[in-house]
Amino acid sequence: MDQPFYDRISDSLRGIEADGLLKAERVLAGPQQAMVSVRGQHVLNLCANNYLGLAADPRVVTASVEATNRWGAGLASVRFICGTQEIHKTLEATTADYLGFEDSILFAAAFDANGAVFEPLLGAEDAIVSDSLNHASLIDGIRLSKARRYRFANNDMADLDRVLAQARAEGARTILIATDGVFSMDGTIADLGAIADLAEQHGALTLVDDCHATGLLGPGGRGSLAYRGVEGRIDILTGTFGKALSGSMGGFVAARRPVIDLLRQRARPYLFSNALAPGICGAALAAIEIARGTEGDALRERLERNTHRFRAGLAALGFDLLPGEHPIVPVMLYDAPKAKRMAEELLALGIYVTAFSFPVVPRGLARIRTQMSAHFTDDQIDHAVNAFAQAGRKLEIIQ
Ligand SMILES: *Cc1c(COP(=O)(O)O)cnc(C)c1O
Repeated sequence: MDQPFYDRISDSLRGIEADGLLKAERVLAGPQQAMVSVRGQHVLNLCANNYLGLAADPRVVTASVEATNRWGAGLASVRFICGTQEIHKTLEATTADYLGFEDSILFAAAFDANGAVFEPLLGAEDAIVSDSLNHASLIDGIRLSKARRYRFANNDMADLDRVLAQARAEGARTILIATDGVFSMDGTIADLGAIADLAEQHGALTLVDDCHATGLLGPGGRGSLAYRGVEGRIDILTGTFGKALSGSMGGFVAARRPVIDLLRQRARPYLFSNALAPGICGAALAAIEIARGTEGDALRERLERNTHRFRAGLAALGFDLLPGEHPIVPVMLYDAPKAKRMAEELLALGIYVTAFSFPVVPRGLARIRTQMSAHFTDDQIDHAVNAFAQAGRKLEIIQ
């Protein structure tokens, strides 16, 4: 036994706790929905990615159960050995068709999709130009490729222009711009129109991770590409079924067919990991069907209304909100222990939120990241605003 090793681990944990950065996991006694039961308390949940409220939708749950009954609990195999069923092919074709790409490929999670996508497509002669606030999984995926790495300031198009010119001047063969469609900690929607323009000017490709947009943003819920009017101008899309599209799990890459074909041959998290469970595929298919239709339109309209109502309520109270239109509404507290106390006060008042601090957001930029859902009623939103008022006054965050 290496005692100094275990001592260092314990020291790290004590340090995290002393800095007020310890993340505790609260246990939900029941499914993910607007009202959840936490520690015997019935609370309004403002911190799930359940944007359309489909995570416990009976149709989605039933589709998952039926898929499990028909296709079994799982494949006990990677896709290429004996792990592909009709339901996987159907979900890949449906995802591609919904989002306007030639084909798509499934992964166990969007984290895996992002981890998988760069290494097989780009080599040491190539360059990846990455937004500085990109999701951790994009950052890790980019690190796993041999391509040269460049970074531009978050959603800063002048900086992107500069970095693209630099990558070109330094001899890059292919340049790929990688960005989140929505930056999950801020709710900022990427300036994809300008990114597509710059990509064309510099002869670069584009990849968008649309996890916080697929199903909820833009016409048909087709995501930030539809929202920004750049459908058909983005080369590669990555996304998740773990948020608006059922909340179950699973990720995908959508692109032109040869790109998907090569990923099937070379992507390591695809070749060396189990096929997606049929129940997950069933839930995702049911959610896509709802999201792409008229009911999805109604849910998105409701989500937008809820977001406006909540933002207006908090702004009127004097809270410091990051501006934006996305249902992510970040309430800035800056100080990590204060954000944590605010979350505790709100929970006592029946509002479930989570404080975000380092390393999930930069030091000194702690916040309560709230998220709206299409399923919230006006009364629930007003109750949340009142609880923010009460807790905010108690902690002297507002007057
Ligand atoms: C949530 C998220 C992921 C990870 O998705 P999973 O399917 O849960 O692994 C990746 N990228 C972004 C931008 C996300 O918000």
